[in-house]
Amino acid sequence: MLIVDTIQILRGEIRHWREEGKRIAFVPTMGNLHFGHLTLVTEARKISDRVVVSIFVNAMQFDDTNDFEKYPRTFQDDCEKLKNLDVDLIFCPSHNIMFPAGTQDQTYVEVPKLSDILEGASRPRHFRGVTTVACKLFNLVEPDVVLLGEKDFQQLHILRKMVSDLEFNMEVVGVPTVRDENGLALSSRNSLLSEEQRCIASNLYRVMVNVGEKLINGERDVDGILAEANDQLCNVGFTPEPIFIKDAVTLQSLGEGSRKAVILMAARLGKIRLIDNLIVDL
Ligand code: AMP
Repeated sequence: MLIVDTIQILRGEIRHWREEGKRIAFVPTMGNLHFGHLTLVTEARKISDRVVVSIFVNAMQFDDTNDFEKYPRTFQDDCEKLKNLDVDLIFCPSHNIMFPAGTQDQTYVEVPKLSDILEGASRPRHFRGVTTVACKLFNLVEPDVVLLGEKDFQQLHILRKMVSDLEFNMEVVGVPTVRDENGLALSSRNSLLSEEQRCIASNLYRVMVNVGEKLINGERDVDGILAEANDQLCNVGFTPEPIFIKDAVTLQSLGEGSRKAVILMAARLGKIRLIDNLIVDL
């Protein structure tokens, strides 16, 4: 397994594989790898000849410097896990390699509208940071296929649109969310939770499933359903952000033609912000 931190060496390896006609899969991550990330890598291995994983904590997508600094970094451990999964190359550039002139003057890529709604409404410039770095990584790795988690539903939606709008010659595969035995979606931020917070955290999934069941049963009083879910989250100790129920295909309000809904939730436990989503057939 190659561990590469320069663009020149990365491009050299990729060129070499291309000349050999290898199919390249790419899994972008911010490290602190858990079984969710590793599932993406396992899927990547199944559908390609070469697997590239990037580990880069992207300052451009954090709206809070404290959150960026506290983001868990476990590089040695991550390398061990990826080696065991037969990954071919880890790309782990420094901040200066990715943003030699800093982030302020960096050319950016933004998917309009979709980046400003839902999660983007409370986190201005977050998705611009995601799409800019993803665009840069896609240009460097030039994969045949990129694997992304449904855990970050809006991010997946936005990146699919960017790939389509800018004609990136790659397939985007969305991988279902991996959860622990209590339903809590695996996340790097879970490691920052105390024992007590971890117990509370699984309620996010429970409340979300509850909302999903109501929708499946034909209830359409969206405001009522959301108010009840909000109360349930508050009662167990969360500070919830607005919950959304949207058409899973358009991310707009549910309409007559909606076939699938997505429930999008974000809530804080202390300083830790957790997000989750559930797709249900209507
Ligand atoms: P991150 O390191 O948080 O940027 O995540 C890297 C990739 O892993 C993204 O495509 C995420 O959506 C995906 N991912 C994170 N957590 C999970 C999970 N629990 N299940 C599936 N994919 C995940």
